[in-house]
Amino acid sequence: MASASIIEQRDNAPVFGNYIAGSWKASQSGETYENRNPANPSELIGRFASSAKGDVEDAVSAAAEAAGPWGTTSAIARANLLYKASEILASRVNEVGRDLSREEGKTLKEGIGETTRAVQILRYFAGEIQQPIGEHYPSMSPTTFLFTLREPIGVCAIITPWNFPIAIPAWKIVPALAFGNTVVFKPASLTPLCAVHLTEALAEAGLPAGVLNMVTGSASAVGDPLVTDERVLAVSFTGSNSVGNQIKKMAGERGAKVQLELGGKNPAIVLADADLDHAVTQVINGAMMSSGQKCTATSRAIVDRRIAAEVTQRLADKVGALRMGDPLEDTTQIGPLVSADAAERVSGEIDRARSEGVALVAGGSKPDGLNGGHFVTPTLFGDVAPDSRLGQEELFGPVLGVITVDNVDEAIAVANKVRYGLSASIFTRDIGKALGFIQKIQAGIVHVNSETAGAEPHVPFGGYKGSSSYSREQGKAAREFYTQVKTVYLDPPPGA
Ligand code: NAD
Repeated sequence: MASASIIEQRDNAPVFGNYIAGSWKASQSGETYENRNPANPSELIGRFASSAKGDVEDAVSAAAEAAGPWGTTSAIARANLLYKASEILASRVNEVGRDLSREEGKTLKEGIGETTRAVQILRYFAGEIQQPIGEHYPSMSPTTFLFTLREPIGVCAIITPWNFPIAIPAWKIVPALAFGNTVVFKPASLTPLCAVHLTEALAEAGLPAGVLNMVTGSASAVGDPLVTDERVLAVSFTGSNSVGNQIKKMAGERGAKVQLELGGKNPAIVLADADLDHAVTQVINGAMMSSGQKCTATSRAIVDRRIAAEVTQRLADKVGALRMGDPLEDTTQIGPLVSADAAERVSGEIDRARSEGVALVAGGSKPDGLNGGHFVTPTLFGDVAPDSRLGQEELFGPVLGVITVDNVDEAIAVANKVRYGLSASIFTRDIGKALGFIQKIQAGIVHVNSETAGAEPHVPFGGYKGSSSYSREQGKAAREFYTQVKTVYLDPPPGA
């Protein structure tokens, strides 16, 4: 890490600033909050600016001032800068991946993998912005040159969750910048260090002052003034449905463009003809990696009744064998949850399901020791009723429920009968059943014979129904949100 973002050392821990108008600075109040390692809460990672309305106003002013010049910078210059940022971040992948694991709790392998993905996103958009961006149309008039341009929108607010603390900021900020917008970035308060790393890489690559601004702090103190500022013309949000719907109301009411990526309750259907070894491994990976804290995590295994007992037993064996511990240890497969609140909430949901009589098959206990970290034991429930709380609500933890069905049609009907529609999988050798699933499943991301949580960085990402606001992120889809279309009728002057 470059030292610029560290504005002070206090009690042997770094104090990180906001990044506003090209400088790292303390919040106006000078207040900070602590960021601690969820696997070992005695480890203080650092202190971060506890910002409020005045800091947000400064950041939006800087972004508004930079919007004109940045929007007219050549696309090739923007591409070169993003490519340079990708090289800077690539040179720090191990360090940043380690910091990601320290502050979010996913394993080091996952932390490095996610950082590598942010590098790929920077590289992708450095190329994407050099692709054709407008269209030429035939006109009713033989002399009219009729074409479209795509132009930047202006100041964009980027509000991100903690569960992919560098990849999600990258897949929003990088296309916003690539297409000529300026940004005020509010990262999740639980994972500000990854936000600092990404911002530093872009700043060091030479981004002009004000083009990217980062403001840390609490949801209401930073989020509300950002979403309601009239100068912010677009808001891209990823997070929970409840907050997303508030943001849609606040920003939508004043006419801002709003993009929401929300929760999931993702099903994996296992049919009787599936390769069970493969299916069970994939379902466990989808459900338990990152301690189940992925929007695309598998939380329902919908299994054909003829193989349900065997699949449940195999899932239980795998759940019981998962190695939970310090995410920085090579042998660890499951780290802690992100915070004490998250661990308490998920444990509460497990207790509630047990008290309602849902069959606990594996896990469910509270782990002892582990440095007082926020761990929840990977847990499997059997015979889950599709309409129960466990069958309907996003738990966002290492909890999987098995639902038993009679055939593929019932499996798809159960899979669809939730308010979400982010990601879905089917495991089968039958191409006809796979095709039927692709056609009937209400999900924005569909897998056949692979886990629900796989997503590549260069293709559209987003959900159906309550999982999204009908827009898509990443790949070519990103330009729809971060640009506006201008249609041009160009005629020669009379007589020319
Ligand atoms: P969250 O909704 O609590 O917070 C998300 C972000 O919004 C944070 O930065 C938070 O500080 C901010 N925020 C909260 N209240 C705000 C307000 N009033 N105004 C402005 N900003 C505000 O979500 P979380 O707990 O960080 O993330 C978990 C959720 O995110 C899960 O539901 C998960 O499914 C979802 N998620 C969705 C996707 C996707 O692409 N669909 C990806 C990852 C996570």
